[in-house]
Amino acid sequence: MKYAQLREFDTANGPGVRVSIFVSGCTLKCKGCFNPKSWDFNAGEEFTEETIARIIELLKRDYITGLSILGGDPFEVQNIEPVTELCKAVKAAVPEKSIWLWTGRKYENYADQPIMAYLDTVVDGPYVEKLKVKEQGKYFGSTNQRVIAIKPFNA
Ligand code: SF4
Repeated sequence: MKYAQLREFDTANGPGVRVSIFVSGCTLKCKGCFNPKSWDFNAGEEFTEETIARIIELLKRDYITGLSILGGDPFEVQNIEPVTELCKAVKAAVPEKSIWLWTGRKYENYADQPIMAYLDTVVDGPYVEKLKVKEQGKYFGSTNQRVIAIKPFNA
């Protein structure tokens, strides 16, 4: 897996101050996608054990609420296993930090995947241009998308 960006200080994606990783690759190709460059599985840097270690170190800072995983799509076939390894390692090292994940897929189709044991919140569904959200401050881009608490009350 590759990733396009690792943000050490992100207040735009999820509650509080977060560390965010944008993984590369998406085959859904939603019309009006905010970032078509993220569709390329070969874009960005290689995701390695060192990347996981760096993310954990960044999450240890007191003022960080948690980790946000975006894309691309973290649930693509090529991405879901390394993303699961990341989530597992984060919850082992810093269990008090929440993990939020954004996917263009429906939650129901992934509810039995091992990754769900580590996620606090999933924002799901494809971006639908005609349902675009106009107000600021939402955690989703179109009104068909849902914010689903896997572990309620963990921001
Ligand atoms: S799922 Fe996300 S990254 Fe993929 S095409 Fe849709 S909006 Fe773009």
